[in-house]
Amino acid sequence: MFTVLNPATEEPIAELEQAGVEETDEAVARAKAAFPAWRTVAPGDRARLLRRLATLVEEHTEELARIESRNVGKPISGARGEIGMVAQVFHYYAGAIDKHFGETIPVAGGVAATFREPLGVVGLIVPWNFPANIASWKLGPALACGNTVVLKPAELTPLSALRLAELCLEAGIPEGVVNVLVGKGSIVGQRLIEHPDVAKIAFTGSTEVGRLVMQGAAGTIKRVTLELGGKSANVIFEDADLERAAASAPYSVFDNAGQDCCARSRILVQKSVYDRFLELLIEATKGIKVGDPADDATEMGPLISAAHRETVASFVDGEPLFRGDAPDSPGFWFPCTIVEATNDDRIAREEVFGPVAAVIPFEDEADAIRIANDTPYGLSGSIWTRDGARALRMARAIEAGVLSVNANTSVRVSTPFGGFKQSGFGRELGMHALEGYSEIKSVFISTES
Ligand code: NAD
Repeated sequence: MFTVLNPATEEPIAELEQAGVEETDEAVARAKAAFPAWRTVAPGDRARLLRRLATLVEEHTEELARIESRNVGKPISGARGEIGMVAQVFHYYAGAIDKHFGETIPVAGGVAATFREPLGVVGLIVPWNFPANIASWKLGPALACGNTVVLKPAELTPLSALRLAELCLEAGIPEGVVNVLVGKGSIVGQRLIEHPDVAKIAFTGSTEVGRLVMQGAAGTIKRVTLELGGKSANVIFEDADLERAAASAPYSVFDNAGQDCCARSRILVQKSVYDRFLELLIEATKGIKVGDPADDATEMGPLISAAHRETVASFVDGEPLFRGDAPDSPGFWFPCTIVEATNDDRIAREEVFGPVAAVIPFEDEADAIRIANDTPYGLSGSIWTRDGARALRMARAIEAGVLSVNANTSVRVSTPFGGFKQSGFGRELGMHALEGYSEIKSVFISTES
């Protein structure tokens, strides 16, 4: 048995059976058996099923948000937004099904056409920081393309995935199309990666485990897409609207208690405005409401676990520039923390995955580009300036998959999301995600008589 905790209270909220290799093989067999019928469901009917699922998620927003908030320690207001996005994702991919078509290509002696074929059984392995959201980013395009899936949520946060699976059945998606397995990464995840009947692994998690996914997939030449860690830069130039940039910066690191792959955890500030910006940043950070995730006004909850809190704490030695308040009641609390750093310090090189921001000064544009790119990661980032040409130069120069100018957003349902370098490869969301869940088949039809 496996005990699921509420990280805000440390109290158990569920006891679940853990799947092993045998249960994994059974789930893959169910998904394999369901595939031939699911791939031939007419596009309009598949779209209707996904729309029904989207509507059911909307109707259960409050219930799903409460599950997510209790299991991850997320503030309820943010959790409602995340479940709202889950519904939007299913609506989007319902609409995408009949717009994902092939081509005809001019060739001699006949007609060449391309078809988008589903892959078969797809293994979805997701992390604990945005459990329902990230599951939906994979489920939506996987189902839209006609695949069947085995979804493995993270050990710590399986509850929303289990509820989503029930809603899939209620929506009329046939038995066996969506299978959820609660179990360990090293057992269930590993088996999915090696299983000969799993055609692809869509993985979101750490770069370390991403490496294992690639290695394991080599045995069966499995397709993989990897959404991995990040160490993103938030670059503040002297000509930026400093007030707006400083008001926004804390939420881009401390949201979800910093447990966000897109966290702008390196704040690069031009030296000429460094002191002023720091003052504004600390003032804005003081305003973050840390506390009970069930309270509508709360903006930051606890970390996911005691072990994770220890890891986060290990990144802060010495006196930080700022340390906020956190409850001293049970729960894996950690205060908002701002430290000064150089880009060579451990805090600037490794993903902390907690509410710790490193502020790093820079001289000029060239220096900002050099520092922003001096990292093995390349997931996201921001550029704050009033100079449009500079914004564009920076956006082209930073090696990252998702950038924003005068904003700190990374994720939209209709735009591609994913990393450069060791942040992974493949794109989620938007029409681009469909490429990762289908194969292109080229067919030549002779017109010779
Ligand atoms: P993790 O890599 O430890 O675990 C992710 C998933 O992989 C879990 O379901 C886990 O059970 C499974 N897993 C663990 N070991 C495995 C193995 N040997 N074989 C197969 N599966 C295995 O990551 P985490 O701690 O759950 O999440 C945090 C990490 O996820 C951070 O690095 C974060 O940046 C990353 N992340 C990336 C994105 C993105 O889209 N790029 C989004 C969210 C989180």
